Amino acid sequence: MTTRSGRHFLQIPGPTNVPERVLRALSRPTIDHRGPEFASLALDVLDRLKSIFQTAGPVVVYPSSGTGAWEAALVNTLSPGDRVLAFETGHFATLWRDLAVNLGLQVDFVPGDWRHGADPSLVADHLRDDTKAVMVVHNETSTGVRSRIPEVRAAMADHPALLMVDTISSLGSMDYRHDEWGVDVTVGCSQKGLMLPPGLGLNAVSAKALAAREQGRLPRAYWDWGPILQANERGFFPYTPPTNLLYGLQVALDLLLDEGLPNVFARHDRHAEATRRAVRGWGLEVLCADEREYSSSLTAIVVPEPHDADAVRELILDRYDLSLGTGLGRLAGRVFRIGHLGDLNDLTLAGTLAGVQLGLTAAGVPIEKGGLDAALDSLA
Ligand SMILES: *Cc1c(COP(=O)(O)O)cnc(C)c1O
Repeated sequence: MTTRSGRHFLQIPGPTNVPERVLRALSRPTIDHRGPEFASLALDVLDRLKSIFQTAGPVVVYPSSGTGAWEAALVNTLSPGDRVLAFETGHFATLWRDLAVNLGLQVDFVPGDWRHGADPSLVADHLRDDTKAVMVVHNETSTGVRSRIPEVRAAMADHPALLMVDTISSLGSMDYRHDEWGVDVTVGCSQKGLMLPPGLGLNAVSAKALAAREQGRLPRAYWDWGPILQANERGFFPYTPPTNLLYGLQVALDLLLDEGLPNVFARHDRHAEATRRAVRGWGLEVLCADEREYSSSLTAIVVPEPHDADAVRELILDRYDLSLGTGLGRLAGRVFRIGHLGDLNDLTLAGTLAGVQLGLTAAGVPIEKGGLDAALDSLA
């Protein structure tokens, strides 16, 4: 292992860079999770988390990855054999589908080309009388494509199915409104826009989803919202909570709410736009095929044949100490992804784009030189 000077650039679309203030909070001594000091911590974070989801309802916090929160959304509301509708927007939508199948649900999976979001115009055609839930990934992290949730909801009209949305890589980065958009379960986690290490899974839950829990017969124990929400009322958990991650969450909420969510979203929009200008300036292609669906938290870039995107990434990591996201699933070797979410400023982005431009050139990918300048012009 050679020593490297300067700081590592972690520009994958999650886990993201953890701010210094959050790191310091994480290192505080762990306290009694049944004592009064813990209760005031928990009541504070559980209350302020609601504003991040833009909901007045409860948010359930698990010691888990995002995948656990996916499972929780399903096992709390559905029964074995229930029919659900999902859209093949990319790798994460496919993994959530697989998880639903493994739980014994019957999934109608609308095929997609991994360059578009869930198509609202197809929702009505695929909703059946017995569809119990519609599952959509808001920001598909494998492709950098945002699905238009309000339009999906509108297309469901007055169908009684629950709407479940994975907002794991958009929460705290891109505008997302659990209540206003009529979402029943929103799935989130800690290591992306919330700027925390991995380890917290989140469910924002509507009154309709809580009512569905009374009927749901899938086996549930650890993930059961009931005992958690009951204990949360007084600031406690039914099992040992991840105390130090909650310290970190408290500071991350300070950071996001002090900056103001509209400003946080505008910052991400601006960095995403500068990134896309760089891509076009290099003469390369953004994977997302519809400009209404651009992601503001990451950009996936198509690497022209016969070049291998992972070889470019490896060269960039080796030479410039910059980590970029790999192509997932069927995009392996074809794209790399720049994460521009979380704790980021103009110069972090400029440094990242400079590293990408240097790396593409060094790897022999034919590019035009104007990318970085185009991005800087857009930031100026
Ligand atoms: C990262 C991610 C996940 C998976 O989260 P884990 O914490 O790895 O389980 C799911 N969905 C989306 C959209 C993601 O970006």
